Amino acid sequence: MIACTRRRAVARATRLGKTPTRTGHRSCRHDPPRKETRLIVLMSSEAALARTLAAGELSCPVCGASVVPWGFARRRVVRTLAGARTLAPRRVRCRSCEKTHVVLPGEVVPRRRDDAGVIGHALLRAACGARAGEIAREINRSRETVRNWISQFTDNALVAELIGTRTLLTYDAHADPMRLVWRATPLARAVEALGLAAAAVVRFFGPLPPGATPWSVANVVSRGHLLRADPGP
Ligand SMILES: [Zn+2]
Repeated sequence: MIACTRRRAVARATRLGKTPTRTGHRSCRHDPPRKETRLIVLMSSEAALARTLAAGELSCPVCGASVVPWGFARRRVVRTLAGARTLAPRRVRCRSCEKTHVVLPGEVVPRRRDDAGVIGHALLRAACGARAGEIAREINRSRETVRNWISQFTDNALVAELIGTRTLLTYDAHADPMRLVWRATPLARAVEALGLAAAAVVRFFGPLPPGATPWSVANVVSRGHLLRADPGP
């Protein structure tokens, strides 16, 4: 059954987001309360997530126990390449440590109005040599915004490359990380590593859920820290 297969795939894929994304890095009115962490998962639909939760297949990123539904976090609007999307993320609570977590789909990059697909597209174009102004015109965003993404990802490039390489080798033992050596810049090597990692995840788990992109995988494995220089432990 396709639906069952997808559900199992999602349940397995959610383990990629097992480690928590820490919050409280800086004061921001969009941040959830300090006790909450974000749990970024690949999900095929809201209904699939509800089924995964009902089956106790989503684990607490802090202690590993199963989590249960705990209402909803605030609604938010995320800009995608196809237009704006409104989300009402679920909140979950751990049965064991009693911490609460906000569950975000892999497309959502914390503290960013644009989703992983938009930001990833800009980074990929930058890795291919496009300038910020050119990219900004292509995706109808400001040049300053695109410059900011490129600058922050470049600052974080070494860590992003390491995360990508580690994920690649986790899901494809025969991968050749030396391929990365041939990329000219740290940004390009990091983009290549995350792209190879996403491909390895798809080979291992099967097709991505509808709406997810390779950048959703990159966002999950980096725990939402694609554009931050302190991706945590
Ligand atoms: Zn827990």
